[in-house]
Amino acid sequence: MTKIIIVSNRLPIKISKQENTYSYTRSEGGLATGLNSVRDKAETIWIGWPGATVDEQDQPGMQQHLHAQGLRAVFLSEEEIRNYYEGFSNETLWPVYHYMPSYARYAQEYYDAYVSVNEKFREAVAAVYKEGDIVWVHDYQLLLLPSLIRSTFPDATIGFFQHIPYPSFELFRLIPWRKQLLDGMMGADLIGFHTFNDTRHFVSAVTHLLPVRSSSNELTYGTRTVVADSFPMGIDPYLFEKALANDETKKNLENLKSTFEGTKLILSIDRLDYSKGILQRLQAFECFLKNSPEYIEKVALYMVIVPSRDTVQKYKELRDEIDLVVGRINAQYRTMTWLPIHYYYRSFSHNMLVALYHSADVCLVTPMRDGMNLVCKEYVACRTQHTGVLILSEMAGASKELTDALIVNPNDTGEIYSAIKEAIEMPVTEQESRMRNMRAVVHKFNINHWVKIFMEKLAEVKALQQSLKTKHVSIDTEKLIHNKYSKAAKRVLFLDYDGTLVDFNPHIEKAMPDEELRSIIQNLCSDPANRVVVISGRNHRTLNEWFGEFNLDLIAEHGAWRKFHETGWQSISGLNDAWKKDIYPILELFTERTPGTFIEEKDFSLVWHFRRADNGLGELRAGELMNYLRYLATDRGLQILPGNKVIEIKNIEINKGKAVLDWLHNQEFDFILGMGDDHTDEDIFKSLPDNAISIKVGRSNSAASYYLNNFKDVRRFLSNLGSDANVDATSKLPERDQADR
Ligand code: UDP
Repeated sequence: MTKIIIVSNRLPIKISKQENTYSYTRSEGGLATGLNSVRDKAETIWIGWPGATVDEQDQPGMQQHLHAQGLRAVFLSEEEIRNYYEGFSNETLWPVYHYMPSYARYAQEYYDAYVSVNEKFREAVAAVYKEGDIVWVHDYQLLLLPSLIRSTFPDATIGFFQHIPYPSFELFRLIPWRKQLLDGMMGADLIGFHTFNDTRHFVSAVTHLLPVRSSSNELTYGTRTVVADSFPMGIDPYLFEKALANDETKKNLENLKSTFEGTKLILSIDRLDYSKGILQRLQAFECFLKNSPEYIEKVALYMVIVPSRDTVQKYKELRDEIDLVVGRINAQYRTMTWLPIHYYYRSFSHNMLVALYHSADVCLVTPMRDGMNLVCKEYVACRTQHTGVLILSEMAGASKELTDALIVNPNDTGEIYSAIKEAIEMPVTEQESRMRNMRAVVHKFNINHWVKIFMEKLAEVKALQQSLKTKHVSIDTEKLIHNKYSKAAKRVLFLDYDGTLVDFNPHIEKAMPDEELRSIIQNLCSDPANRVVVISGRNHRTLNEWFGEFNLDLIAEHGAWRKFHETGWQSISGLNDAWKKDIYPILELFTERTPGTFIEEKDFSLVWHFRRADNGLGELRAGELMNYLRYLATDRGLQILPGNKVIEIKNIEINKGKAVLDWLHNQEFDFILGMGDDHTDEDIFKSLPDNAISIKVGRSNSAASYYLNNFKDVRRFLSNLGSDANVDATSKLPERDQADR
């Protein structure tokens, strides 16, 4: 049976040691609950650190105990915890990922421990992994793990989900080990984040720092296709609603009611962390007390801070500062019968949390950065009475879903103050309408839904990879093509130039044919059964200079110029180039505004090149230019073709497909091959007859039947043509599927 192997830093368990015996409590966090929804379809095994250092002699016994619950412990030493967890994870990655780079410490010993602990997790996965299993790796402590698993099990299905924000590339690039971290993540098939912005930032980082090409959220890294996407994580709202009915919660509700009778209750719950905006929130509350004194004795802030990472200096300092500010505000505003802030530095039971959520008139959630933030969703889940107001920071992932909250900038104390006032004064009807909408979101996008859509997408990515694999020219396919080639008496080969026969060169004039290519072409041309046609967007003078000496045909400027080896150059008659004087100045304008770009003028087209422009800027300007030209083009009978880091503007009548059809007119061949790498070559693939072989260079959606990875593979493929194909003469290449076109 297929297994789902969940890997996260922590196991969903709490371990405590009394004298010599360990006791275990299962902590049913969101993820554990969500996985229940797939448990009936697949066995699950959870791998993680048990949350405490365990003496070596106790480890086998504990492992055995955990086994029975589908858990596997990765035991870590105190030093590993210090360097990998408290160090690299929480002192290096956490601050950078939460936009606090000045808090980050870059220490080689932290990173070394991070590598070796990720390796320990790989070993734990390898011990249970069987072919067909799905591995789902979680969060920033295990960024290297997907690639480590991939190197051991190249075909494994691996998902990765990051629960914290993904920072902008400009911040991420600060990390000395940035490339290794990205390479580690790219071992996964699907990489998930909470929000679209996180995904966008990741795609930007990976395309800037690694040789990764992206087509929207589909990433090509070497020969692998990886997808990055957003999956906003939900909670299990029923778990909270159910708890409202239990006796302990009811008792808590009664107590809260009597303590805060006649007082509007504002709730704030966080783990101790500088990313949570706790001090700014206190400042806003102080501002509220100062500017709206009519609410003195009528409003109270119930502030829960759950102890966390308090061995780290920055967290200790934060805690001291919170103590100080709370003390100061309470001292200044308290009265004989009223305390403005009820502050608790501790954690509460689930039943008490539910009672707090259900009792609070307002929930104040204002993190400086938060991947998702679950507190706000839990508050909404507990509002079964449909009233209450949520004030939510725009920097929390949840703000993209809970749009009926009062959304605030957590740095803007004035805005938080106004939101508090607005929340307290909000009419019940408005509260109800907002809360109903938010409750619908929390119910629909719950944790089961989250697990389901992630798993479905992961299966989709695997299917996509599989379909690409079947189109790849495998050794067997290559043999069949060679067989067909060697049996054919009359053949034609249509070969695109840039990106197909040679690699791209930032200096277009330098991409001339080298010795290897010249000899491949020479060999092909010397076979009297062959007609070789180089079909390119290049101008005819360049093609003539490079290929004039060979016994081949040339199609230049996408078909505007043709030269059959027995004739001279001819251009399509009646082509008009008067439009160039209108379009040229526009391209000039964009060239002046965009360093690294230039214009290439051909007889019947203009090309704007941006290969040497700053990564991203070129694409941005190209989009702008296309929008600009769109209207002008229609009037003038022009087409705008986006190519590989170029935009080409030319007459609508010219395309490579038409040129190929004209060339083939009234001729019969028993072997037809078309090869090309970009948009303009798709016209070739579409125009070829069904028995032709079409090969796209690079993996992307294409009308071609097959693909090869790059120009090097093309050269190898062409060199092997004509060599003895030792294949079964009855084997046949499949005819092209109509759906491919
Ligand atoms: N929480 C808890 N005990 C408490 C207070 C809060 O277990 O005393 C839980 C809360 O219910 C929520 C989680 O802590 O599920 C906080 O998650 P969130 O995403 O808001 O912040 P994180 O701590 O993950 O940064």
